[in-house]
Amino acid sequence: MIKYTKENVSLQQSLIDSLMKNILKTYFGYDNFRPLQEEIIHHILNKQDALVLMPTGGGKSICYQLPALLSEGTAIVVSPLISLMKDQVEALQSNGIAAGALNSNNDETENANLRRACIDGRLKLLYISPEKLVTEKDYLLRDMNISLFAIDEAHCISQWGHDFRPEYAQMGIIHQQFPQIPIIALTATADKITREDIIRQLHLIHPRTFISSFDRPNISLTVKRGFQAKERNKAILEFINRHSGESGIIYCMSRNKTETIAQMIQKQGIRCGVYHAGLSPQQRDKTQDDFINDRIQVVCATIAFGMGIDKSNVRWVIHNNLPKSIESFYQEIGRTGRDGLPSDTILFYSIGDLILLTKFATESNQQTINLEKLQRMQQYAEADICRRRILLNYFGETTTKDCGNCDVCKNPPERFDGTIIVQKALSAIVRTNQQIGTGLLIDILRGNYSTEVTGKGYQELKTFGAGRDIPVRDWQDYLLQMLQLGYFEIAYNENNHLKITSSGTAILFGRSKATLTVIHREETTIKGKKKKVIISKEFSFGLPGTENEDLFEALRGLRKQLADQE
Ligand code: ADP
Ligand code: MG
Repeated sequence: MIKYTKENVSLQQSLIDSLMKNILKTYFGYDNFRPLQEEIIHHILNKQDALVLMPTGGGKSICYQLPALLSEGTAIVVSPLISLMKDQVEALQSNGIAAGALNSNNDETENANLRRACIDGRLKLLYISPEKLVTEKDYLLRDMNISLFAIDEAHCISQWGHDFRPEYAQMGIIHQQFPQIPIIALTATADKITREDIIRQLHLIHPRTFISSFDRPNISLTVKRGFQAKERNKAILEFINRHSGESGIIYCMSRNKTETIAQMIQKQGIRCGVYHAGLSPQQRDKTQDDFINDRIQVVCATIAFGMGIDKSNVRWVIHNNLPKSIESFYQEIGRTGRDGLPSDTILFYSIGDLILLTKFATESNQQTINLEKLQRMQQYAEADICRRRILLNYFGETTTKDCGNCDVCKNPPERFDGTIIVQKALSAIVRTNQQIGTGLLIDILRGNYSTEVTGKGYQELKTFGAGRDIPVRDWQDYLLQMLQLGYFEIAYNENNHLKITSSGTAILFGRSKATLTVIHREETTIKGKKKKVIISKEFSFGLPGTENEDLFEALRGLRKQLADQE
């Protein structure tokens, strides 16, 4: 018997390492692992649970495919789309790996053969839809030797995620039934709450969360505010002309809009397809296929388009409408520039979209659109802060540098040293043990004896009234800037209390300085044909509550004004 000594462990380790490299080269053709892949694979081989966050195209598949090859038995991979499974299985098979997909598209004999291969242990990877997994848990899965479970697109399990799928909700049974088998959950899009929710719902046991950098520095970020439909169309055509012959996607809010914009583009002699859930599966497959094989240059699509599209040379993405969350937005722009070459994105932001989405969010009972997430999206669109910093901070990746590749960096607003302002706010948060939201924080800073303040005795705090010189509106703006700069975050699952981050702590203790943007207040003006609508500065980022009634009132008024002039 081999003695379990330090030397032996490291010998074993280096054996596994070289085996891993070998498999990476032989089966996948790559010489090196990307960041985190190796660590994740080791973790899974040690039969530990993991949650993996990696941007689209980051290389999540290898994190479970390689352990599957190195383990005895068959890995079960849950995937939400049949087309995704098909692509993956074909790719694996062409690399000489025994893989199959069990789904409702197969015919009887195909499934029977696959079942036999599973039971005989001839398959290394079995892809399966979530509903099939649930029905097979007491049949096929019992008779198999399972090496690991991989849950791809794991954010689909969470209502906090941006693409909740009820079929995923039952996935929690896996660990109850197979407690010994490791689970690896993978997603390209999950904020902190969604991550916690995935872990809870899958009942992951002491999981390690691996987050690889979400930064995609080759993607430029631009927001165009207040463009009316006509100006927007003109800008879209100009943009496509500038990107002559280059593949791109235009995301629209409605099916109707995808059709009308596609027609407009086709009129210019540009090959353009349409993709939305209202089309037949054949029509959708055709658009996707035409796009991947460069038979069309542009796809006008709703959010239905994109999951699992592996096209490396998409050069641009336009958002004709405001996405419902930063996760959706990031996922969608992430489909461009996978080859690492410079790629352009534009987001058109209009008051009309905001009104509509806000309405959906309040009516849909937060099922499909979450008001808080929508507000963060809105704040992104309105910010005067490096857009990449906002995005990365949103996903919990601390950055303190401006990117130089977004419209704000290219045309920076006036800034000043705001260290003291930031310190005052952070210090007040700390003194309440991080148990307050923005409203109460502003009360404390302004020295306001509100019932909430006196109820908690916060008038005794050292920072009470420390920010009296700054008006409420400006505090709201500065706090929003601080949030977006990543000095604190909002715990949505904890009464929206503010929690200081590590970069916030560095400011608080004077280890680094904070630069804030000068607030310029602009009037909402709608003049003749040249309509300029700027509403940003008045927005509170207080979460749904009474103050939003005023907002709705204001929005309703604006919409009416716009409609009258249309
Ligand atoms: P994700 O599922 O994270 O979106 P994939 O697993 O589909 O990404 O990988 C995206 C692309 O990156 C694929 O073409 C894959 O072959 C490639 N890839 C993955 N790992 C590596 C690696 N270590 N070296 C080079 N290419 C890799
Ligand atoms: Mg993937």
